[in-house]
Amino acid sequence: MSSTDSFAARLADLQARIAAACVRAGRDPAEVALLPVSKTFPAEQIRAAVALGLRRFGESKMQEVRDKAEALADCGIDWVVIGHLQTNKAKDAARLAAEVQSLDRLDLAQALDRRLRQEGRALDVLVQVKTSDEPSKYGLEPAELPDFVRTLAREHPALRVRGLMTLAVNSEDEEAVRACFRVLRTWRDRLRDEAIAGVDMQRLSMGMSGDFELAIQEGSTEVRIGSALFGARDYGAPA
Ligand SMILES: *Cc1c(COP(=O)(O)O)cnc(C)c1O
Repeated sequence: MSSTDSFAARLADLQARIAAACVRAGRDPAEVALLPVSKTFPAEQIRAAVALGLRRFGESKMQEVRDKAEALADCGIDWVVIGHLQTNKAKDAARLAAEVQSLDRLDLAQALDRRLRQEGRALDVLVQVKTSDEPSKYGLEPAELPDFVRTLAREHPALRVRGLMTLAVNSEDEEAVRACFRVLRTWRDRLRDEAIAGVDMQRLSMGMSGDFELAIQEGSTEVRIGSALFGARDYGAPA
C-alpha cells in the first residue's frame, strides 16, 4: 500500500465515523465539517491529501504556514490557524491565513485588524474559549465573551466573527469532556441570541482525534483532526 492509499483509507474510515456519530446524535452529517490538522506533517503528505479533495488544513505555527504555503502555492489551499498566535505574527496571518480559530485577546485582534486593512481584506475568525481549568489551555474566560465579541464587531470590522472554538479537557472522564463542549455551545447560543450586528455566531469548532464523537453529540459543527488522519506526530521531525 502506498502512503496515499493508507491516507485514503484513514480518510474514508474517519468520514464514516463522523457520519455514524451524526446519525447517533440525530444530526445531518452535512452539518459537521472536517478540518484536517496537518501540523508537523510534510508538504508532500498534504499534497497527497489535496489529491483526495481536501482543501482546508489546520496549522498551529505561522512559520509552518509560511513554509507550506510556499511549497504548495499551486494547490489553492485555505490555511486555518488553530494554534496560539503571537501578536508579532499578525502580519503573516493577515497575508496567508484564510481563517484564524485561535483569536483569544484584544491586542491580537487589533494587530490582525490593522494588518488586514493594509492588505485590503477581511478574515473569518473564531474566538477561542477556555472551557477547562487546565493551565496549558489558551482562550478567553467564557464570561469575557460578550464584551469581547461586541468590541470586535464595533472596532475591528476586518475580523468577521463566525463562531467559537475550544479544546476540551484532556481526560478519560467523558462527562468532564462533554461539560467543556456544553459550555461552548451554551455561550454560542447566548451570543447568537444577542444578534450582534456584523457577527454571524454559528460555528462551533470542537472535537479532535480523541473526542470528536462526543463533540458531535454536543453540537460541534467542525472537528479538527490530526493524528487520526495523518498518523502519530513526531515533534522532532522537520516539517
Ligand atoms: C493538534 C491540534 C488538533 C488535532 O489534534 P489530534 O489529537 O491530532 O486530532 C486539534 N486542535 C488543535 C487546536 C490542535 O492544536
